[in-house]
Amino acid sequence: MNRLCVHSITTKPWSLEECLRHYPAAGVSALTLWRNHLVGRDATEVGRQVREAGLELTSLCRGGFFPAADQAGRQAAIDDNLRCIEEAAALGAGWVVLVCGALPGQSLDQSRAQIAEGIAAVLPAAQAAGVALAIEPLHPMYADDRSAINTMAQANALCDELGSPRGLGIALDVYHVWWDPDLRRQIQISAQAGRLLAFHICDWLTPTTDLLNDRGLMGEGCIPIAEISRWVDEAGFAGMREVEIFSNRRWAGDQQAWLGQIVDAYRCLYPR
Ligand code: ZN
Repeated sequence: MNRLCVHSITTKPWSLEECLRHYPAAGVSALTLWRNHLVGRDATEVGRQVREAGLELTSLCRGGFFPAADQAGRQAAIDDNLRCIEEAAALGAGWVVLVCGALPGQSLDQSRAQIAEGIAAVLPAAQAAGVALAIEPLHPMYADDRSAINTMAQANALCDELGSPRGLGIALDVYHVWWDPDLRRQIQISAQAGRLLAFHICDWLTPTTDLLNDRGLMGEGCIPIAEISRWVDEAGFAGMREVEIFSNRRWAGDQQAWLGQIVDAYRCLYPR
């Protein structure tokens, strides 16, 4: 249980205060905060609240979305990422998760070049703040408008392209990469390079009725989570297992019962 982290968006209807009350009571050890919970609040104060509640604050979701049609749009994205890094530093979060972005109608190569430029532009500020940046490869179904980085190999290549700098790493989300025949090797490569920062878990439902908000609870779907988890641990990863589930169906129900199901599914997946 000391490796169980829950993303605040997983219980989207709950306020920050409700998350901080119910997560520790259910046995959750850590929180990844989504930026919607920071609106109108002081990040330093929120960080203090999280720790006082007995939770570790793992990371902040999310930055990225670097590609844009013009220079002004790309600069606006860089400015927003700089704000996100400042917020993460004030919170005391270890890293910012990057959903890198893509622009429909623009070539993926062009989007990838803009992503590399955007990360290079904000990395010095992140390094100075002691906040890492975690590139999260997204499933190719999101390559049109959410991310042009779609595999672990691309994420590893992007880190290499930028000189494999300190403070730049990868967030592996099983939802996005479970299908990849090269996954195990790419996990090993990322871990050996010291850049495997985060491990997100949930499941893939059949059928999936919404491309964004129909993720499953661990054990409900077809992702070999235990096997991927073993690969990650064998590669030397000892960080949090972060439950991140967007689900219209689950958000419509009782969140207390939902959190209980998450903890039960986690215990079933990681018995000891
Ligand atoms: Zn994720």
